[in-house]
Amino acid sequence: MRADVIVLGAGMVGVGAALALQARGRDVAIIERRGEAGRETSYGNAGLIERASVDLYTFPRDIGTIARTVLGLNAAARIDWAALPQTLPWIARYFFESAPARAALHARYALPLIERCLSEHMELASAANATALIRKSGWIKAFRSERTLAAGAREARHIRDFGLTFDALDARALAALEPNVSGFAGAIVYRDPASCVDPGGLVAAYAALFARRGGRMFAGDARSLEQTPQGWSVATSAGAILAREAVVALGPWSDEIFRPLGYEIPLGVKRGYHMHYATTGNAVLGHPLLDADGGFLLAPMARGVRLTTGAEFARRDDPPSPVQLDRVEPLARKTFPLGARLDDEAWMGSRPCLPDLLPVIGPAPRHAGLWFDFGHQHHGFTLGPITGRLLAEMMTGEAPFADPAPYAADRF
Ligand SMILES: Cc1cc2nc3c(=O)[nH]c(=O)nc-3n(C[C@H](O)[C@H](O)[C@H](O)COP(=O)(O)OP(=O)(O)OC[C@H]3O[C@@H](n4cnc5c(N)ncnc54)[C@H](O)[C@@H]3O)c2cc1C
Repeated sequence: MRADVIVLGAGMVGVGAALALQARGRDVAIIERRGEAGRETSYGNAGLIERASVDLYTFPRDIGTIARTVLGLNAAARIDWAALPQTLPWIARYFFESAPARAALHARYALPLIERCLSEHMELASAANATALIRKSGWIKAFRSERTLAAGAREARHIRDFGLTFDALDARALAALEPNVSGFAGAIVYRDPASCVDPGGLVAAYAALFARRGGRMFAGDARSLEQTPQGWSVATSAGAILAREAVVALGPWSDEIFRPLGYEIPLGVKRGYHMHYATTGNAVLGHPLLDADGGFLLAPMARGVRLTTGAEFARRDDPPSPVQLDRVEPLARKTFPLGARLDDEAWMGSRPCLPDLLPVIGPAPRHAGLWFDFGHQHHGFTLGPITGRLLAEMMTGEAPFADPAPYAADRF
């Protein structure tokens, strides 16, 4: 079977790229080992479409946070010490790239993507009849002390330089907005972002749109990818697919393709967990709420309230160790009237991260017809559609809406 382009991986990033290529007249075949879209990292995230993330999730530089993390007292970040010999070189690069001047530069490079993330989602969501899954009500960053609240407000002011808005709430105003939430001195409400009540469902809706527009998806293992004289081929349950071009959009598993081809791209992971909860009584959570001091996030989802954890520095394939979830759950229960756990076990996913927290988007430097679109870190659900557009513009010779140089595979 033939196609113009093979897209490897059907997360938000792969489906976003497939739709953007299809919109430019390409016959696209998606290859996904699970046989359906949006079942991995793009399923389990917090669902934020982070329109206000003008800063990146850098490695903390203040000695207090570093010390608390090292001592295991920071619920937002956990180091798996047994994995440290393997993870330390990457963590060191991440620390280096998080130096304030470098981080500011990377954030500037990410800005064209952030600025267009929500409009790109809304265009797709409306074509996919899926706007009901997206709430344009912002999200809440709540603080437990006056001191952290003041620091949070100072940090938030910076977004005004970018035309973005926030509300600063004291405890009483927060109680008026979220009557079932307690324990906070106040909060910042970021008003420009949106959130999704079913992240996996949104990817599936975009994949259904891709199929309605004539796109094909096949179950197959991306690791069967081979270069041929005409381009690229991959084995699927329906036979081999041949195409002139291929896109690697395998999220945290992208190294399984680029490494055997000889690329030394420093892709690392920050693992995270989630659990769904029923609510007790008639309690309702109106917005996603990050407990900035407690190190967890509660998001109202179609399935229940989803508690997501911060970053775990561990090897991608090691067994899950949901200690962060177990640790924050008692505090989360005091924060909001959570009922029974709704999942048999904690979900685990891996945020695919480059040390500079910019994705890799563009051609594979030494392989004609091979393209990369991975490493979207904490923002892959947000950025999948817009980075798909950028990649498709590059692949079809259109003028790219942003300079792609900062995302080049050979920047390291
Ligand atoms: C706890 C947590 C919370 C998060 N919260 C947010 C948030 O609020 N907002 C946000 O924007 N981002 C968030 N993220 C990050 C976001 O989820 C990721 O950046 C994003 O999902 C990555 O998308 P992807 O398509 O690159 O990867 P994935 O969604 O993992 O897709 C990769 C696909 O490749 C497939 N695959 C892998 N190997 C093979 C193979 N050999 N053959 C065929 N197919 C294969 C997988 O099955 C998968 O479907 C969060 C992440 C975590 C862990």
